[in-house]
Amino acid sequence: MNELTAILESIPVDPLTGSIAVPIYQTSTYRQEAPGVNKGFDYTRTNNPTRKILENVIAALEGGKNGLAFASGLAAIDCVVKLLETGDEVLAVDDIYGGAFRLFTTVYNKFGITIKFVDTTDPENVRKAITPKTKLIWLESPTNPLLKVSDIKKITDIAKKHNILVCVDNTFATPIFQKPLKLGADIVLHSATKYLGGHTDVLAGLLVTDSDELGEKLKYIQNATGGVLAPFDSWLIIRSIETLKIRVEQHAANAQKVAEFLETRPEIKKLYYPGLKSHPNYEVAKKQQKLPGSIVSFSLKEDTEESAIKFVTSTKIFKLAESLGGAKSLLCHPATMTHKSIPRERRLLGGVSDSLIRLSVGLEDAEDQIKDLEQALNALNNSAPVNKSVPLEIYV
Ligand SMILES: *Cc1c(COP(=O)(O)O)cnc(C)c1O
Repeated sequence: MNELTAILESIPVDPLTGSIAVPIYQTSTYRQEAPGVNKGFDYTRTNNPTRKILENVIAALEGGKNGLAFASGLAAIDCVVKLLETGDEVLAVDDIYGGAFRLFTTVYNKFGITIKFVDTTDPENVRKAITPKTKLIWLESPTNPLLKVSDIKKITDIAKKHNILVCVDNTFATPIFQKPLKLGADIVLHSATKYLGGHTDVLAGLLVTDSDELGEKLKYIQNATGGVLAPFDSWLIIRSIETLKIRVEQHAANAQKVAEFLETRPEIKKLYYPGLKSHPNYEVAKKQQKLPGSIVSFSLKEDTEESAIKFVTSTKIFKLAESLGGAKSLLCHPATMTHKSIPRERRLLGGVSDSLIRLSVGLEDAEDQIKDLEQALNALNNSAPVNKSVPLEIYV
């Protein structure tokens, strides 16, 4: 069956009423016929019919058996970390998502779970960094914001020899472009806040595993700690998954055009997009992803915060905001936004320069997106002052 047909067919018609849209079971609890005798649902933290459908849909989409839905991507990450014990060590991709960096280094460090960062684009670095304490390898591919691509299959092969779990944050690629379980990963994770939600209106996190043992452990932690996704938010993600494939394919087609345009501009110092031959991981990306995705990052020749701020305040279609993956194009300046809490020296060492700008290429017409970026690049050459913030009156 064609993948889009399979996705639509995986979302069931309601057997009770025939409702084509999935019903929202907005309930916290369920009537029991006798103590412990129920229809598979007793309390919504443990199980909810709307959430269950989402969990089944994402499991099918990732080619796994067990799916779990959480209140945010970070709640899903937190659930995976809770598989570990004091003394365990995590090996993680160096360009890790900022929120995951914070969780590992400030919250879990004090419980004796340590984390080591390596450049996972070379699997040899992973092999060399493994110690008897290593229990989890944490990958993101492509990464945020530098679009580093790691060879998932090569790394999971190494991990299997040492009995180490591999979790892949698949947020940027989406299950349409990349299926980490098929490449040997044990757990795949999504911030469904991004492409799966797709409309910048909901926070959600998802986990999928193909192992029943891991699935049970994660489900136990999910229920024990309670960071579950609400029924309405589960419904929003299910609805968005119906259009996921056509959305991300259009996003990627636009991003390719935008990246090719940026490549021609003299104001750009470095351009990061795995769909360009100049990207150092172009071949790996081509091998393991169907399409390169729709995040494009770049730094400016004039590599200063000031010129980046000038650029990000000059665009109109690309709106200045954190987050990504929605229908509307967004852009952000990591140095003063997502990566603000990281000391400058460490940030620069990691490759996030003062002028780095990250684009989330949306679904507007690519020609309009390019015109918007073009006028913002042109604006770098005039000397108009940078906008000052004006608080909205109702909030002051
Ligand atoms: C946004 C994001 C997260 C965190 O997800 P939230 O839903 O914001 O908690 C994790 N990983 C990546 C790659 C992300 O972009």
